[in-house]
Amino acid sequence: MQETGSPLSNSKSLPEKREAITDQQVLIVGGGHVGLSFALLLAHHGIASTLLEKNRYPTISPTDDRTRSHYLDSRNTALSRRTVQIYQEIGLWDELQSHACRIDSVQISEQGSFGRAQLNKAEEKVESFGQVIENAWLGRKLLLAAQQSPLVTLIDNASVNTVAQQADGVTLSFSNHDAAESEQQLQASVLVACDGRDSTVRQLLNIGTTTYDYQQTAIVGVVETDKPHEHVAIERFSPAGPLAVLPLTDPEGDGNNEYQQGHRRSVVWVCPIGEETRYLEDDAHFLQTLQQAFGQRSGKFVTTGRRGAYPLSRVLADKQVEGRCVIMGNAAHTLHPVAGQGFNLCMRDAHVLAQMMSSQVLKGEDIGNAQLLQRYEKARQTDQKRVIRFCDAVVHGFTHPNPAIKLARNMALLAFDKLPNIKPLVATYAMGLKS
Ligand SMILES: Cc1cc2nc3c(=O)[nH]c(=O)nc-3n(C[C@H](O)[C@H](O)[C@H](O)COP(=O)(O)OP(=O)(O)OC[C@H]3O[C@@H](n4cnc5c(N)ncnc54)[C@H](O)[C@@H]3O)c2cc1C
Repeated sequence: MQETGSPLSNSKSLPEKREAITDQQVLIVGGGHVGLSFALLLAHHGIASTLLEKNRYPTISPTDDRTRSHYLDSRNTALSRRTVQIYQEIGLWDELQSHACRIDSVQISEQGSFGRAQLNKAEEKVESFGQVIENAWLGRKLLLAAQQSPLVTLIDNASVNTVAQQADGVTLSFSNHDAAESEQQLQASVLVACDGRDSTVRQLLNIGTTTYDYQQTAIVGVVETDKPHEHVAIERFSPAGPLAVLPLTDPEGDGNNEYQQGHRRSVVWVCPIGEETRYLEDDAHFLQTLQQAFGQRSGKFVTTGRRGAYPLSRVLADKQVEGRCVIMGNAAHTLHPVAGQGFNLCMRDAHVLAQMMSSQVLKGEDIGNAQLLQRYEKARQTDQKRVIRFCDAVVHGFTHPNPAIKLARNMALLAFDKLPNIKPLVATYAMGLKS
């Protein structure tokens, strides 16, 4: 089934703007998934931006749809229902959905315990809880859309050196590694830093961070099972750490049902300290340990692709606005990946800021106005705090070995499964539909 504009969404796809509706410019530093998505959201509102990316972008031909070297080596992201709606709103979802797999139900359980809970799309009366998309495909389509947009100027292979703020704008100096001159300058009304967890812009602005090291590593990979996934996303808690297993499309998928019903699953597994090398290098050990933690309900784990390792920490910027500069994406909040919330939260931030800037333009006012940006920061606090608390509660609550706490969380899972009013609320939050 293809995702269509859901009744939950009031948003309509607006016609794409080919010309800027204002002379005011936005500078974006960092062209990962958040920076590119923000540039496209601005373009959708008729606001032009210049995006500076440290790495060199690949050359993409619009007709070349190849993304992977091996179908078990993809990296994937769970997009919430709200993120899908945002991509629908800017007219990109049709391009994205061929490599995205619907989530029809979510199962939560703990290894060796009685408590379990399940969310079903039919019960919650939704088309799906979200979609799992291949990162390479998402990145490729975002980059192609940005390259083709007359309102986005991309400068890659360039690194930022200084940021200076004036009363009416921001000036950024950067080194373009392709150009003969050693340093160049850009000016804009506002600068939005999407340059990741170790953000250079955040450091140049002297904005500190509050960091927490989880002392854990996420092992990420793709496995094949002998049974089809049936669009079930599974969140399982084992003594070693939380484990998320998500459905994926078949390798040559084109978005049809036939390809949606695959056997590939994306795995995010928090592994015990000291075990990283073995989980990464020993396929048989990885599959066997996964099977033990998971049981037989989803069939046999047959094959695995290469795994990647991500040391986990929470990094929160002490503030997200400084004068005419906004800190966004992982640069603002890097979260634990267990609940698949990080990117989705960033997308809600980006959507709100683009809308606020658009309203400001329509009133003929300055989009870098400090009060506007502070209003944005305040408007996003509730959603951000709730997601940060939720991720931490999942990580700490489910890994605590104390038997009394274990009993309490199992009772809570059972209660969650039986009480009528809780599920719709949690489902709404998980889909990112309430902020
Ligand atoms: C294992 C794992 C699984 C995850 N799964 C999910 C999931 O299922 N769902 C979900 O919602 N979230 C998930 N997340 C979180 C998600 O991946 C991040 O929130 C998201 O990638 C953040 O994107 P970003 O663009 O802000 O940062 P990044 O992806 O770090 O991009 C930053 C960009 O800035 C560029 N850059 C850096 N420094 C400079 C500079 N000085 N000048 C110019 N450019 C610069 C970089 O080259 C890069 O392109 C997961 C995270 C992990 C680790």
